[in-house]
Amino acid sequence: MSLKLTQYEPYDFANRRHIGPSPSEMAAMLETLGLPSVDALIEETIPSAIRRSKPLAFGPALSERDALHHMRQVAGKNHVLTSLIGQGYYGTTTPPVILRNILENPAWYTAYTPYQPEISQGRLEALLNFQTMISDLTGLDIANASLLDEATAAAEAMTMAKRGAKSKATAFFVDENCHPQTIAVIQTRAQPLDIKVIVGDPDDMVSENVFGAIFQYPGTYGHVRDLTGVIQELHKASAIAVVAADPLALTLLKAPGEMGADIAVGSTQRFGVPIGYGGPHAAYMACRQEFVRAMPGRIIGVSIDARGNRAYRLTLQTREQHIRREKANSNVCTAQALLAVMAAMYAIFHGPEGLQAIAQSIHRKTVRLAKGLEELGFKVSPEAFFDTITVEVGAMQGVILNAAVANNVNLRKISTDRVGISLDELTRPETIEAVWRAFGGNMKDDSTKIREYRLPEALMRESNYLMHPIFHMNRAEAEMTRYMRRLADRDLALDRAMIPLGSCTMKLNATVEMIPVTWPEFANLHPFAPLDQAQGYAEMIADLSNMLCDVTGYDAVSMQPNSGAQGEYAGLLAIRGYHLARGQGHRDVCLIPTSAHGTNPASAQMVGWRVVPVRSAENGDIDIEDFRAKAREHSANLAACMITYPSTHGVFEESVREVCDITHEHGGQVYIDGANMNAMVGLVAPGEIGGDVSHLNLHKTFCIPHGGGGPGMGPIGVKHHLIPHLPGHPETGGHAGPVSAAPYGSPSILTISWAYCLLMGGAGLTQASKIAILNANYIAKRLEGAYPILYTAPTGRVAHECIIDTRALKETSGVSVEDVAKRLMDCGFHAPTMSWPVPGTLMIEPTESEPKAELDRFITAMLAIRAEAQAIEDGAIDRDNNPLKNAPHTVEDLVGEWERPYSREQGCFPPGAFRVDKYWPPVNRVDNAFGDRNLVCTCPPMEDYAEAAE
Ligand SMILES: *Cc1c(COP(=O)(O)O)cnc(C)c1O
Repeated sequence: MSLKLTQYEPYDFANRRHIGPSPSEMAAMLETLGLPSVDALIEETIPSAIRRSKPLAFGPALSERDALHHMRQVAGKNHVLTSLIGQGYYGTTTPPVILRNILENPAWYTAYTPYQPEISQGRLEALLNFQTMISDLTGLDIANASLLDEATAAAEAMTMAKRGAKSKATAFFVDENCHPQTIAVIQTRAQPLDIKVIVGDPDDMVSENVFGAIFQYPGTYGHVRDLTGVIQELHKASAIAVVAADPLALTLLKAPGEMGADIAVGSTQRFGVPIGYGGPHAAYMACRQEFVRAMPGRIIGVSIDARGNRAYRLTLQTREQHIRREKANSNVCTAQALLAVMAAMYAIFHGPEGLQAIAQSIHRKTVRLAKGLEELGFKVSPEAFFDTITVEVGAMQGVILNAAVANNVNLRKISTDRVGISLDELTRPETIEAVWRAFGGNMKDDSTKIREYRLPEALMRESNYLMHPIFHMNRAEAEMTRYMRRLADRDLALDRAMIPLGSCTMKLNATVEMIPVTWPEFANLHPFAPLDQAQGYAEMIADLSNMLCDVTGYDAVSMQPNSGAQGEYAGLLAIRGYHLARGQGHRDVCLIPTSAHGTNPASAQMVGWRVVPVRSAENGDIDIEDFRAKAREHSANLAACMITYPSTHGVFEESVREVCDITHEHGGQVYIDGANMNAMVGLVAPGEIGGDVSHLNLHKTFCIPHGGGGPGMGPIGVKHHLIPHLPGHPETGGHAGPVSAAPYGSPSILTISWAYCLLMGGAGLTQASKIAILNANYIAKRLEGAYPILYTAPTGRVAHECIIDTRALKETSGVSVEDVAKRLMDCGFHAPTMSWPVPGTLMIEPTESEPKAELDRFITAMLAIRAEAQAIEDGAIDRDNNPLKNAPHTVEDLVGEWERPYSREQGCFPPGAFRVDKYWPPVNRVDNAFGDRNLVCTCPPMEDYAEAAE
């Protein structure tokens, strides 16, 4: 017998991981479409005039083993020293039970944002725990479930104060004790909004001159000051007080709310989330009840389901209460859900006593360190501190910093004559001794010797926190593991079923891509560590940037934005900077199609622009005549247009080049929203069709998991002329101000996108886009007889997603788009994107990751739902009491009384649902109105849990 040699290229195997349909399945799907090949489909889908000029040029695909090997080599170029730099980033231990069961668990990290509450109860509960924790620690009424980082949270608080303050002043005061990156991000945000930022000593603040102020507590140099007096002054002037507080310090110190603060912000990084060279970590915001409607970000609330059982949901909104197009509070969409869940679990793991013990231990270590330095003759400030001290070192600064590095420790360089030191949970006696050595001492640290405190007596915390039973769970790991498992089991994530969410690109997050995230070389580096210790990161960021330049057709990439919406904001700031530099600073009009994602107008508003909406034509394309007319009308003031490509209607518009040309003719710049890049990689480059700047959602196209609503990364690519206007950073330089706390946003998760590119190679990435288009067209073809498909190219094809119209069903059978979405849960599916961009429709994006069998299961479910609607139309089932209106069904529906005109089996096991592996939504349909009328945004009392369990 002879050995038969195969003819495959290596990527044929490598990219099979990401390509759902097998070759034979592809053949079957093409037959359904009546096409000879995938390339023939692409010909019919993407107009040749906009195809990219040359294929991607970044090499062949690597195997899993080779990719990990290469990444290991690069990771090895990062040198992780013990960081005592502080400045918002602290060493912490991720409890292994949380590391493995949350951070490394696809049931948590592949979940989507909980817009469909019935299939999101687990993460909603976890995020409610987070809100309860923050609300308790800050002493404020209500908290949101995460913002991007502490610095942007502070900037959000400033604009929130502007909206909420009765004071008509136009300046915002910033305590000079805030972290430098916080001050810088606030300044970036303030500038286009004509807010004057006054940085100074709180004692010099003139309350009458400001609408609000922010103070850091404890301050960046360690000071812990009583803010009660300055806050009273602010309130007398009808201004708003914001406190940026370290949640761990708050376990020992008086809460901001108890000092009168209106808003508190901060980072929960040190609650068990690795530093990761800057992110991702969850920032928090809390406020007094009266400001809740002005608060940005998502807020989880408690409501009831159709049986009156407790159920959680996103509150005060049907979708995003704060992204109200040009009237938006903020553009925050993707936030840091997964990291918020981790922080909340850390608090549950330790409980209030455990957290307090950690904080006390850190404080005592800091006291010992300070006393030792004093013995050595150094002047240590401040007198009272929590975990951070500043040492006057004069001309010895360089020597001491170098000596510290020689002892494997990084200290913080403060101006030219001081050194900052922040201790943390990880600090050992050897670390303290190493610091003493760097200062010329040779003492032994004796933890039994010194037991004094240097916390300010008047600011010691007296109030309780984390009193809810959830934070007092039996701390046996069995209990903790099962709690996390129970919550995970309530949710439907990608590890169970396809999540065909149009525009959100819920594709495979391959396990191999997740592995390097938690390697210590990537996980434990401080963002402000000396650059010679971060060469691995530098190499990875440069390599990924080059790949993304190739993918987009742009000349440079900034990795700073932490989400797509932050990318939009950074991109518009770059355009603004460009106009200003050319003496065209008056340009402030932004043309945006009405079909745009809500974050587009929200971002335009954040840079102080006026949004002029442009209509869509009958076929869903941008109405080119309307566009031309608006551009002409605003010619003198045209700053930019923001378009999405392929459009949010799921079509590659032929006219895109014309839209870009018109914009340029009138002196404007073109922002192309790159959220739909998954349809284009290797096929179309936004930089080649006329774009000047675009963001990429790495958490869509480039495999970073959605994490139940974050993290994400939204790097922007720009043409050459915009490079000088990309975001800079106080630590790394650059002309423009920063938009994020850390220079490269959330670098530890860039490893995921990098791994994806390495594993796929140029050809594999291109194949992924083609199959994404194939899968979408297959679904459209199979469903077109049952539901009208809105918007297609002239050839009848769609791009990587399709919109199906369910509005007619409402007329004929009373079945709403929501009923369809909820019924899909019974079939074990997450609904497609609902009512966006067109109300009453569903937008389906299967992605390339889904095998044909899963597409067919979804199609079966959708056809069965159509048949149920038909039965209502025919009068065979009741209009109000039917499986669609009563969806989703729960285990509760299998027992007790049953007075419905259809069987339990019909209700619970519709076509598409698995029999053995049936997914059971834990609650029946959630009552939205009830939740908004009865606002509860912290954990409800325990009796309610008991009740719900009965
Ligand atoms: C997802 C999306 C955004 C926003 O991205 P985030 O990362 O959630 O901030 C913007 N535009 C479009 C078209 C999107 O689909």
